[in-house]
Amino acid sequence: MKGTMRLEAFHEVPPTAGLPPRWRDLLPWRGPSLAARAAEFLGVEEVQVTCSGTAALVVALTALKRRSARTDVIVPAYTCPLVAIAVAHCGLTLRPCDLVVNGIDMDPATLAALCDDNTLAIVPTHLGGRVADVDTALACAHRVGAWVIEDAAQALGARFADDASIGTKGNIGFFSLAVGKGLTTYEGGLLIAGEAGLREDLRRCGEEIARYDAALEIARSAQLIGYHAIYRPLGLTLAYGLPRRNALRSGDAIAAVGDDFSLSIPLHRMGDWRDGVGARAFVRLHDFQEKLDKQAVRRRSRLGSIAAITVFQDRDRVRGTWPFFLICMPTRAARDAALSELWASHLGVSRLFIHALPDYAYLRDIVSALPLPNAREFAARTLTVSNSLWLGDEEFEQIACALERACANRNGGAV
Ligand SMILES: *Cc1c(COP(=O)(O)O)cnc(C)c1O
Repeated sequence: MKGTMRLEAFHEVPPTAGLPPRWRDLLPWRGPSLAARAAEFLGVEEVQVTCSGTAALVVALTALKRRSARTDVIVPAYTCPLVAIAVAHCGLTLRPCDLVVNGIDMDPATLAALCDDNTLAIVPTHLGGRVADVDTALACAHRVGAWVIEDAAQALGARFADDASIGTKGNIGFFSLAVGKGLTTYEGGLLIAGEAGLREDLRRCGEEIARYDAALEIARSAQLIGYHAIYRPLGLTLAYGLPRRNALRSGDAIAAVGDDFSLSIPLHRMGDWRDGVGARAFVRLHDFQEKLDKQAVRRRSRLGSIAAITVFQDRDRVRGTWPFFLICMPTRAARDAALSELWASHLGVSRLFIHALPDYAYLRDIVSALPLPNAREFAARTLTVSNSLWLGDEEFEQIACALERACANRNGGAV
């Protein structure tokens, strides 16, 4: 089909560039396991497969809790609500740390002040494919005797400057294979640890916590088949575009981005069939991410020409992944102006998490009210632009122009 003739209304661009699924991934051929393929991709000795990223974090925290009487887990104040839910699930205390100004990292001084001899773990978080500052977390953790868990849920494939995968600097790292995060088994997670003794503990914990649940596995398998069926522009219009536009019309931003998580965490084992589907998808991930990189280089330079906005990038020689561009607008008003034009469109513009953790009403019993000005500012001023290969150059230019207009309008309409 020629792009010029396509009907906008039926060409929904996903907010993140997911690895396109292939029907033949669903065929039950035996081959290397998901754990083996993931270990090869990440360049690590061993990978533990879990039923979700959240479950991986629950396993990690449970294993650490068994080694220590400490109770506090420090996380960035702007992160996935599931992280807070996992900490609470383990009976631990969440300590949200404010961010640096205009960045995804925890503020080093605030982090240092939060760390004490009750700190069990610090969770630096690689948001949106960007590589977070793990060194500061490691230094703080070493000072007080805590562990570092790298949350790499949104950045499978990202590498540090020495080419090691993210997730390998901390004591433990985890990735998400949830729908919408890139490579997916509909729900799934990967857990890694450098030290063999810790890996052994994690494996034992995983086996105790997560049992095989046939009903859940059948449900997830059906969902994964459904995902293969709808992952095309028309399917996404129905399965993602319409519900999102409905949520936006009724003013429900949390539902529009899918931030409305349940407080109970399903803990079970991934079945062999889904494991195989994930393993077969892994083979294509490297090449797919290279294509995204190429597109991202060109489009970053266009976005970089808009002086008033910040497009989050990587530090020297670090190589993140590019599922979407995370963009900070000059003001909340400019961000909202851009979203009012773009969010309900089919162009793949969205937001990451709607709030800083204390601002989700449904987390009120888990997260205490704290000022956290930088995290709140980040939530108020950021938006995301998809780096899906389905977003054509003209459509991308439409987005760039809308961002320019939104920045200009705040100065009384001067362009
Ligand atoms: C999605 C996500 C998680 C949880 O992963 P699931 O596989 O969805 O359970 C954890 N942390 C971050 C930053 C995430 O984006």
